[in-house]
Amino acid sequence: MSANAPNASIIRFVSTRGATPPTAIDDALIAGLAPDGGLYVPERIPALDAHAIESRIGAGTLAESAAAILAPYFAESRLRDALPTLCARAYDFDAPLRAMRSEHARGDDARSGDFLLELFHGPTAAFKDYAARLLAEALGALRADDAPTTTILVATSGDTGAAVAGAFHRRPGFDVVILYPDGRVSPRQAHGLECWGDNVRTFRVAGTFDDCQRMAKTALADTDLRRARSLTSANSISLGRLLPQVAYYAHTAAAFRRAHGEALNLIVPTGNLGNAAAAFLAKRMGLPIGEIVLATNANDVLPRYFDGGDYAPEATKATLANAMDVGAPSNFERLRHWHRDDAELRGALRAWSVSDATIREVIADAPARHGIVACPHTACGLHALHRIRDAGDTRPWAVVATAHPAKFETIVEPLVGHAVSPPPALADCLARPAHGETLAASDEALRAKLLARA
Ligand SMILES: *Cc1c(COP(=O)(O)O)cnc(C)c1O
Repeated sequence: MSANAPNASIIRFVSTRGATPPTAIDDALIAGLAPDGGLYVPERIPALDAHAIESRIGAGTLAESAAAILAPYFAESRLRDALPTLCARAYDFDAPLRAMRSEHARGDDARSGDFLLELFHGPTAAFKDYAARLLAEALGALRADDAPTTTILVATSGDTGAAVAGAFHRRPGFDVVILYPDGRVSPRQAHGLECWGDNVRTFRVAGTFDDCQRMAKTALADTDLRRARSLTSANSISLGRLLPQVAYYAHTAAAFRRAHGEALNLIVPTGNLGNAAAAFLAKRMGLPIGEIVLATNANDVLPRYFDGGDYAPEATKATLANAMDVGAPSNFERLRHWHRDDAELRGALRAWSVSDATIREVIADAPARHGIVACPHTACGLHALHRIRDAGDTRPWAVVATAHPAKFETIVEPLVGHAVSPPPALADCLARPAHGETLAASDEALRAKLLARA
């Protein structure tokens, strides 16, 4: 009995496609994607009891909550004992929950309030910093000293590349290669991708995001190249990008219930469904999260599905909320895996699509209506909040602010009528010189660059 007890608590990872044997966390983190092409999911979701939540989560720092919520997954990891230290280094900035001004709230009664969960206080001013930084800490700690340099190849439509570059910048044993579509990200997003240098190479590709993604996939599938350069990816479906995001939801929801005696409801601006999948995982682990609502831009594959239509991925439409321009949300496979059938999944979430015209209106009204400046992604979430309030819902809701508005200055500033200054970390990055190189949108061009690296 006692000999078996430790094993009973160990969680292995399986694939959403069912053809990968249960895999230990360290191997799943390094692999990122399951060998059968599916996404890694925990073979069971550990449920924390009320006492564990009450005593260990949301009472201290975000880093302490992160170590507590992630511990069950790391029970057999080589990183188990180092986890608190790795979390302290990765989550060294806050995820504050701020009360917004609202027409709806009764006085200052938080139980019916409107909140903003600000996930943009990291080095590249978007929520992807949290996961990219813990992934970098974990892969750095798992790496053998004599292992060849690993090259992390990222195709990005904006924020992922910057977060991964920032997280691995100057980290021994790693190079980062970023591909982004020239002219399709905001000027400050572009600078955020190009401000690194050293072990980070950034290519402005003369093509679309889909070209970048195809080039990265071709390179990653090229056995010779993989061997020569020890290539890997760090995209939004990697297990190491999903798990760390559970931390800020757990921390926020536990602290909210401690303060207000109630579950917090969440509105998550959504593209690939990675951030929302983490919110869902936090809820399943027993955290006091009420309802989860998804807000998409004009790419409305998810709203149509949750309204009862088929899941029908389509070509990506370019919108003002460019980090959510996704026509085939890759983490959908995880959500489906966690539910018995479509009916159960449709019952678990609601989703609304927001047009560019509405995004503009919401950004323009947000200073007077809520006392905040919103980025285009956060604006999609605010619109969902307005619909919820219009329907008479009086529960506490938090809109997840996925990026700082200063990152999208060319959209936001004309609408609010004043300059929006970048937060300090982003200002640092903008003050550094850019190191980008241009690249043709061809697989051969990328291959040559990767092989030429000294
Ligand atoms: C990546 C991103 C999103 C979408 O997140 P998903 O996990 O892909 O759903 C939303 N807003 C911003 C600012 C982002 O960078």
